[in-house]
Amino acid sequence: MPVLDLPFTHAAHDRAAHRRAEPNLVEDLLKQPGTRVLVLHGSDVATSGRGIALFAPDDVAHVAVRAHLFLGEADGAAYLAAVLVEEEPRPDLDVDWAGMRTLDVPDLEQGLAVEAIALAEWHAAQTHCPRCGAATEVTQGGWVQHCPVEDVNHFPRTEPAVIMAITDADDRLLLARGPHSGPGRRSVLAGFVEPGEGLEQAVARETWEEVGVVVDPESIEYRGSQSWPFPASLMMGFRARATTTRIVRQEDEIAEAGWFSRDDVATALATGDLRVFGRTSIARFLIEEWFGAPLDG
Ligand SMILES: [Zn+2]
Repeated sequence: MPVLDLPFTHAAHDRAAHRRAEPNLVEDLLKQPGTRVLVLHGSDVATSGRGIALFAPDDVAHVAVRAHLFLGEADGAAYLAAVLVEEEPRPDLDVDWAGMRTLDVPDLEQGLAVEAIALAEWHAAQTHCPRCGAATEVTQGGWVQHCPVEDVNHFPRTEPAVIMAITDADDRLLLARGPHSGPGRRSVLAGFVEPGEGLEQAVARETWEEVGVVVDPESIEYRGSQSWPFPASLMMGFRARATTTRIVRQEDEIAEAGWFSRDDVATALATGDLRVFGRTSIARFLIEEWFGAPLDG
């Protein structure tokens, strides 16, 4: 079975990684009127109409920028992200702002946005050398943090996480809610892969730890992956069959959990007892694949 067709996985641009080492790459691109600049404030990207707002460098030369990131090239144009100083109010650029949960734009722009957000989140989270604590210098179009004391380069990391649709012998789906999610905000289970662990092991371990359910290791099936940079995550989606149904919650991680038939899900969506996460999330796609139809909750 082919993997799921997920949002943020249709990048239509060339990251042009070979250009990152060009001296003064960002400075040179900012002098070229054909360069296109998307603007980030925190985890939100500036949008305009039905797409991302793309500026000529001169049009955003007046805004306070913490860093410029080189995203790559498409159709002969180079793309930069201008990461605004988050502590400053948003400048008046006559734009709207959207985060990844609500970003409904064409493939090229979606790919540029997730790359920009992920890279910007790295710089927001790490400003100093993890080895010696010295302040790092951002180089190579934002793809390297250089430690000037040790003369070493640090690169952005991606942390693997698993997210899994677990079903029982009656094909009911396991849905759970974390203690910080609002009422009805149930979803499939997810968790970070631990050091020294494979993906399938993480699926089985997280399911056991969070709800006390045993997964048949032979049934674990990969369904696709999606970048979700909060923080630095690569969400890897699976489905698997449980061999037990009794739920024993890990109480600090899971506020409620239960098995849902398709009828249960349809009813809960209609009454508002179930509200699933947004159209861009892999969780929704895993649930919809099991459900067999789009969820309009
Ligand atoms: Zn260092």
